[in-house]
Amino acid sequence: MVFDELLNKDALSVQDIVFLLQCKGDEEKKLFAKSESVKKRHVDNIVYLRGLIEFSNLCRKDCNYCGIRKSNLNIDRFNLTDNDILQAAEFAFKNRFGSIVLQSGEIQSLAFTKRVVKLLDKILKLSNGQLRITLSCGEQSRDTFRQWLEHGATRYLLRIETSNEDLYYKIHPHDKFHSFEERVEALNNLKLLGYQTGTGVMIGLPYQTYEDLANDLLWIKKMDVDMVGMGPYLEHSGTPLYKFKSNLMPQTERFQLSLKMIAILRIIMKDINIASATSLQAIDKMGREKAIKIGANVLMPNITPGMYRNSYKLYDNKPCTDENPEDCKSCLEWRVSITNNIIAYGGYGDSQHHSHKRGSTLRKI
Ligand code: SF4
Repeated sequence: MVFDELLNKDALSVQDIVFLLQCKGDEEKKLFAKSESVKKRHVDNIVYLRGLIEFSNLCRKDCNYCGIRKSNLNIDRFNLTDNDILQAAEFAFKNRFGSIVLQSGEIQSLAFTKRVVKLLDKILKLSNGQLRITLSCGEQSRDTFRQWLEHGATRYLLRIETSNEDLYYKIHPHDKFHSFEERVEALNNLKLLGYQTGTGVMIGLPYQTYEDLANDLLWIKKMDVDMVGMGPYLEHSGTPLYKFKSNLMPQTERFQLSLKMIAILRIIMKDINIASATSLQAIDKMGREKAIKIGANVLMPNITPGMYRNSYKLYDNKPCTDENPEDCKSCLEWRVSITNNIIAYGGYGDSQHHSHKRGSTLRKI
């Protein structure tokens, strides 16, 4: 089959996607041109901002790739005060970001559930209900998800990291705290409750194959999620996976492969929101902009108070940890403009995929 026909196929197989992931030169250019045109047609050249507030790096888990895993004793643990979080949310509101993301390590307790409820109430109040709130606080019970939804969170990010269960247990300890099955169940609960549900994977993990990545894309499509954030795996020296450093593909290849993953995802899930991950920028200074050009439509500027950003490092060499939120904003405007996209200030940027699904459900009823 010629390459152009492959790009226009209705449904791509694992083999088709593996072929696309390995394309180079002119074929790679064609892939990116196709995903760019799908993006323009279905979600337009518009970028939505999510002000990212990393409010605590306390975590009960020990993921083998993560710099803030519980067993890493060489980092400063922090937990922002409610006041710091509310100030950051106010910054996002006043600067017309439209949305914020509250992200933390995974803490499961009644006190944590209640704290987030209280924060949601206060953020909705300070913004007159005009800030969309995404939560990214790990796996929680269905009841906790429900409470947070009832208090105004409308979106939830929970990355699967890999859809290959065997690989999942190579990059996570195989114990009761790290269950693949429970991860999937949590994602299904979020969908059932009505959240705009987001997931994502890491690209270039040790042991990972092209087939794994192709299956990841088809798994994401089958899960019918509304948002995806995915980027290159970046090693952290304080983690068990670091010992495989010399077996990994070079970071520049991981970067290019990540762009192809985003491009293919845009082609197979035309109306979802795709975030341009910060990890892309850690490898290539213009990495996030390259992703926006070929398919991503969401940027998550970090508005965590600067002094804490160094302590929320899931990987080494995380970019922009020493900038304050104002610096971040002017830098982003310039970066987005050179991709022929515009920032939708004040736009919520709800997932069109989610609205389309709800519309079709209502029609069926
Ligand atoms: S990846 Fe998330 S859940 Fe896993 S150790 Fe890091 S912060 Fe905790």
